[in-house]
This record gives sequence, structure tokens and C-alpha cells, in this order.
Amino acid sequence: MEETPGIVITGASGRMGQMLVREVTASSECRLVGALEREGHPWIGRDVGEAMGGAALGVTVTDDALEAFATAQAVIDFTAPAATVAFAGLAAQARAVHVIGTTGLSSEDLAAIAAAARHAPIVRAGNMSLGVNLLVALTRRVAEALGEGFDIEIVEAHHSRKVDAPSGTALMLGEAAAEGRGVLLEDVADRGRDGMTGARRPGAIGFAAVRGGDIVGEHDVLFAGPGERIVLRHVATDRAIFARGAVRAALWGQDRAPGEYSMIDVLGL
Ligand code: NAP
Repeated sequence: MEETPGIVITGASGRMGQMLVREVTASSECRLVGALEREGHPWIGRDVGEAMGGAALGVTVTDDALEAFATAQAVIDFTAPAATVAFAGLAAQARAVHVIGTTGLSSEDLAAIAAAARHAPIVRAGNMSLGVNLLVALTRRVAEALGEGFDIEIVEAHHSRKVDAPSGTALMLGEAAAEGRGVLLEDVADRGRDGMTGARRPGAIGFAAVRGGDIVGEHDVLFAGPGERIVLRHVATDRAIFARGAVRAALWGQDRAPGEYSMIDVLGL
């Protein structure tokens, strides 16, 4: 019988890392072949399942990325920009699919990732959930259909520890709305209204952020026209949706040509 694709999880002790270890081990379509943490991390040398407080999974946490990637068909990576750039080069060397969920990448980071994608497939998305990517596709279509007679506002809500605003997902939705209208988001974005702002600029795409408690992530795209209003809404209640999307991307990437792909490609949207 043919073996299912072997997957390495980077940043295995992180919030998303642990979620991914659970998702991969629960799937019958792939297997966990490696768990990576940075040098000196207390989990190095321990079984990843036991380190997570559960049963042994037969995979020892390592800090040797090259050795771990050599046995893998895919690397799922939700860590930090500097780590992700280094992993992109190593995953490409191993010809493994690199699924990148890490956010906050700079233009230099993106250029390094694009260079790695010349040698192996990379799937990258600031939000890996099926629902949000569907919302992106719908936002583009509705913005195109309605035109400038409808004002577009994007309202997002997240937990109190989130440090940036608007969220990466809100910006993705803003980009999609701008694309639907045939304009550049940077020319029409209206962020952070306060005080005597004056009337709303025609054609603006507005953003508002709510922060509080343990909200996983909520996004509304509002199209407000004369006498009617359309609201497209996504509510995330469980981070597992991101892990599920990432595993789906790792499987989709098998046998793909080298290049950069998004979740829109994976989901066929
Ligand atoms: P987290 O809990 O801080 O986890 C990050 C993990 O990466 C930590 O275990 C960290 O280890 C590890 N790490 C950092 N540098 C490393 C290196 N050089 N080598 C190996 N491991 C390294 O954060 P999180 O909430 O899981 O989020 C991680 C990333 O995913 C963020 O960029 C977040 O915005 C993004 N995210 C994306 C999506 C999506 O759908 N695309 C969804 C959720 C989150 P240390 O603790 O030792 O630093």
C-alpha cells in the first residue's frame, strides 16, 4: 500500500503548532513525520505528543530542520517571519510543499519566499479557513456587481491580545472589494476615523476594529446603499479551522509544479 504524505510541523509548541499536530495525527490522509522547535527549546528531544500533555506519537521534537524536511512531503509552518524565510529555502531544497500561515511578512521576506517557490510549491495565506476564503471571493463579486452607489465598510473583532489593526484578514477583504471595483485599496482605504472627520468620501473602503475578551475572529463586509444593506459575515469560533485548511493545502500541493499558490487556488474559488 502506498504511504500517505509525511508532514513536518514547525513551531510545534505554539498555539497553531499544537493544533496542527492534532489535526495531522487525526487525519487518515497524511502522517506526522516531524516536529520542529528552535534550538534550546525545552521540548527538544521529547516525544511531541507527551510534550503536549497527551499520549506518545512516536515523533521526537528536533531543532534540525534540514534533517526533518528530508523525510517529508510537506512542511506546515505557522511561526514567525524570520523562521519562515529560512524554512522556505530548506523546504525547497528538500522539494517539500511549504504551507505558510505565518503573517506579518515584509516585502523582503516575500521576495525570498518567491525565490524558494521557483524550486517547490508554496501555499501561503494570511487566513487558511475555508469560510474566510469563500468570503473573499464573494466580496470581490458583490463589490463588482454593486458599484460605487453602495458604501463598503469592513468591521472586524478579535481578542484583547491582538497587537495589530485592521487584521490581516480585514485587509484581504479590503483588497478583494477594491479589486471588484477596479481600484487600488491604498487609494481608497479609510482607516481609524476619530473626531471631525467630515462626510464619508465617495468610493472609500472603511475599516473598523473591535478588541475584547477571547474573540477568535469576526469579519463583516457591509455594503450600504440607498434603502438597503447587504452584510457578508464570517465568524470563527475555533482555531482548528486554520489547521484544517493548512492540512488540506499540504495535500493539495502534492505533485503540483513549483510556484506560489493561495487558498483560493486550493479551494478552487
Ligand atoms: P505562537 O503560539 O507564538 O507560536 C509560534 C511558534 O513558532 C512558537 O512555538 C515559536 O517558538 C515558534 N518559532 C518561532 N521562531 C521559530 C524558529 N526559528 N524555529 C522554530 N520555531 C520557531 O503563535 P501562533 O498563534 O501559533 O501564530 C503563529 C503564526 O501564525 C502568527 O504569524 C500568526 O499570525 C499566524 N496565524 C495564521 C493563521 C492563518 O490562517 N494563516 C491563523 C492563526 C495564526 P518560541 O515560543 O520558542 O518563540
